[in-house]
Amino acid sequence: MAQDQCSSGKYGILQKMTKNSYNKSLPAAQSKFPPRADGRDAAPYLDFNTWLRQRFGERVQKITVDAGLTCPNRDGNRGTGGCIYCNERGSGTGQAARGLSLTEQIQRARTHIIRRYKAHKYLVYFQSYSNTYAPVQRLRELYDEALSAASGIVGLSIGTRPDCVDEEKLALLGRYGRERMVWLEYGMQSIHDRTLARINRGHDAACFRRAVDLARRHPLLICAHVILGLPGESREDMMESARAVAEMELDGVKLHLLYVIKGTELERMHRRGDYRCLTRDGYVDLVCEFIERLPRKTVIQRVTGEPHSAELAAPQWSLDKRGVIKQISETFVKRGVGQGGFDSLSLPPGDPRSARRIRPHRQDRPSPDGSGSPCTGRNARRIRETR
Ligand code: SF4
Repeated sequence: MAQDQCSSGKYGILQKMTKNSYNKSLPAAQSKFPPRADGRDAAPYLDFNTWLRQRFGERVQKITVDAGLTCPNRDGNRGTGGCIYCNERGSGTGQAARGLSLTEQIQRARTHIIRRYKAHKYLVYFQSYSNTYAPVQRLRELYDEALSAASGIVGLSIGTRPDCVDEEKLALLGRYGRERMVWLEYGMQSIHDRTLARINRGHDAACFRRAVDLARRHPLLICAHVILGLPGESREDMMESARAVAEMELDGVKLHLLYVIKGTELERMHRRGDYRCLTRDGYVDLVCEFIERLPRKTVIQRVTGEPHSAELAAPQWSLDKRGVIKQISETFVKRGVGQGGFDSLSLPPGDPRSARRIRPHRQDRPSPDGSGSPCTGRNARRIRETR
C-alpha cells in the first residue's frame, strides 16, 4: 500500500483538524506489510490496524461498549420487529443490561487489552443498537464519560442508523472530532431500496446518502457497514453497493457476512427454506470483488463479522473468523489484484496504468531457476484484521 493513505479524500477532513492530536505529527508509516522492491506495499487492502498504526505510531485497540440505548426500528418509532437478522441484543454485547456502566466496561476491557495485546491506545466503539438515538444532552454525557474513563483513549467510533442523526447531533460529534479521532459508522447494508424493504430496515438508500452529506460538514470520518448475502441480492446487486461506496468516497467500510442468529425472522426464513446462506468460498470471492472496486484510500475496517457461537444458527463456517480472513488474503494474492485494482483487470500485463495490480504470491509464479521452490507464505500470514 502507499505510505500516505490519509482518509481525507477530496473533502480534506483530516487536514481541517489542525488541533487534532492524532494529526499533529504523524509518525513514519509502520505498516506490518513490508515494502516491495518496487516501493509499493504488498498488502492487498488497507486494513484498519495498519492505518491506525500509521497515524498513532503504535497499536490502537477498539474497546466495544454498550451504552444502553435502543433503536427506532425496535421501540415502535420506525417499527417493532427490527431488521430481520437482528436479535434483541441489537448486535451488541448486552453489558448495559448486566448493569455495567460505560466506565466499568472500558476499564475492564482496557485491563484485558493491556494484558493480551500490550496496547496502550484505544478507540471506544459504541456498538449496540443506535448510538445517536437519544437527546443531545444524554449523548454528550455518554461520550464525555467514554473519553474520560481511562487514559489512552484517542477517540470514538459511533455506530448508528442513518435516520438517527441531525445537525445538532453531528455538530456535537464534530466538536469531539476537532480534538480526537471520531468515526461515524452508518448501517448502509445495501444500496438497493428493495433489499432494505425486504430486510425491514426502516429507511431507504436516499436516507443513507443524506446522512453522509450531513456528516461531511463536520470533522468526522465516515464508515459504512455493508452486508453481503442479503436475501434476494445477486452478485451484481452487491457490486452496485460497492460502486456506491466507492463513488461516495467514504473513509471506511465494514463488510459483514449475513449469518443467521437464533430467534430472528431470518432464522424462520432459513428454516422454511426461503433463505440460503452463502458458502465460504462464495463469500470470500464476493469480499475480494467488493474491495477491488473501492479506492485504495478507503480503510477496510472489517472483512467479516464475528457471531456468538451460542447464538449462531448458520452457517457454521462463519465461526472460523481467522480462517476466513486468511482465505480472503490468499484469494487476493491468487487473483493478483488488490483494493482499487478493478479498473486494471482489463489492462495487458506491464501496462503502466495497471499499477494497482499486486504481485502474485511466490507459489503462483514460476520460480526463477525452474525448481518450483516452496513458498514461505510470509506475507499472506501477516494479513489479518484488527478484531
Ligand atoms: S438498526 Fe441495528 S439495532 Fe436496530 S433492529 Fe436493525 S440491526 Fe437491530
